[in-house]
Amino acid sequence: MNRYGDTPLGMVESALEFARIARRNDYHNFLFSMKASNPKVMIEAYRLLVAHLSAQGEDWNYPIHLGVTEAGDGEDGRIKSAIGIGSLLADGIGDTVRVSLTEDAVFEIPVCYALVQPYNDGEPARRETIQPEQQQPVRYDPFSYQRRASERLPISGIDVGGGATVAVFTSREKWDALAHKLDRLGDYKPEVVVEDSGVIAVDPRDDATITALNADPQPRLVTVAEGLALRVIPAFRLLAAKLDARHPILLKDTLEGPATVETADFVQNLLRAATNIGSLLCDGIGDAVLVNGEPAPGQSLRIAYNILQAAGTRIFKTDYVACPSCGRTLFNLQSTTQKIRAATGHLKGVRIAVMGCIVNGPGEMADADFGYVGGAPGKINLYVGKTAVKFNIPEDEAVARLIDLIREHDRWIDAPHEAARSGEEA
Ligand code: SF4
Repeated sequence: MNRYGDTPLGMVESALEFARIARRNDYHNFLFSMKASNPKVMIEAYRLLVAHLSAQGEDWNYPIHLGVTEAGDGEDGRIKSAIGIGSLLADGIGDTVRVSLTEDAVFEIPVCYALVQPYNDGEPARRETIQPEQQQPVRYDPFSYQRRASERLPISGIDVGGGATVAVFTSREKWDALAHKLDRLGDYKPEVVVEDSGVIAVDPRDDATITALNADPQPRLVTVAEGLALRVIPAFRLLAAKLDARHPILLKDTLEGPATVETADFVQNLLRAATNIGSLLCDGIGDAVLVNGEPAPGQSLRIAYNILQAAGTRIFKTDYVACPSCGRTLFNLQSTTQKIRAATGHLKGVRIAVMGCIVNGPGEMADADFGYVGGAPGKINLYVGKTAVKFNIPEDEAVARLIDLIREHDRWIDAPHEAARSGEEA
């Protein structure tokens, strides 16, 4: 760690150092875990670990435990977990999993089962495979993030591709269902109707169509066609590998087309969308997203935006890192996280860590801007980045002092209703 720092390579080298000690003592009853709270970092670290283990030799095939640590709670915690754990399971990496939510531990278990179920049921093997002669080397570095360099294309008044913010598409049917309240959707507004976008849907195995697209001098928005029995992630990876990078790509959560209300299971839809779209975003693929698997119009948009936030692709709200709590926790993590969320949820782009103790909390706050950490029973320490700046604040004052700290660092803005109220009072 001293040589490589707090990086995926540092995590891998540190784990290998301990593994070598164990092996020197002929001890082999261990597995590897590379947890991080940022799904991109976590995916890179596990991939790097597996590459290093393979290079060490066949007898380094120790099991791998997957987890996104400090994922937080609610939909955001589930989405972050699915992006990290689901992506790696889809890559064939992982033998055990833990979903770390800032909720009662029993709520973690159904999420774990939902993530592993397709693999335990052999679902990937039932899908059509991409034949070896159709496979292409990936065009990105799987160990570090870089967005695919497409060209910018204006669609329905929104820039898509070319480094523009990843756009959120919806279907005509959902747009019409929301039309009467579009102005009240705030940060969850749909941006483009997919049927009006001119998107070209292709089978990524169809060389003739891809060759014709690559010969087209104009950038075109391209996606994978529905109705193919391919797995979503390999299908889009193949498309990205064969398609000229200048053509932007529209990602979808499913290739099965829009779901019906009768067959809908919200959590399953959320986890599947987070796994498929989140994984591709973390590989730098995707200029627009469409969630088709969740039939409820508003919920499908919320899933889309929350995936973009969790993948670090489009930051439109406050980001929280919260530990799952354990025997060391010095305050009620769940109610405190909710209190902090209620007070700071409007601070776009600010990252706040809520950690139960100073033993592990500061080290696991990752790249949070501010930290709220249990210092002693009933006492809180506040952090700016990784530096503790306020100590032993009584718990009942600590959220207010956190807000003061955010103000002092010019990261505070009034919530919209407060701003409106102060405008009325002025
Ligand atoms: S209380 Fe401390 S050790 Fe326990 S989960 Fe939270 S940060 Fe980790």
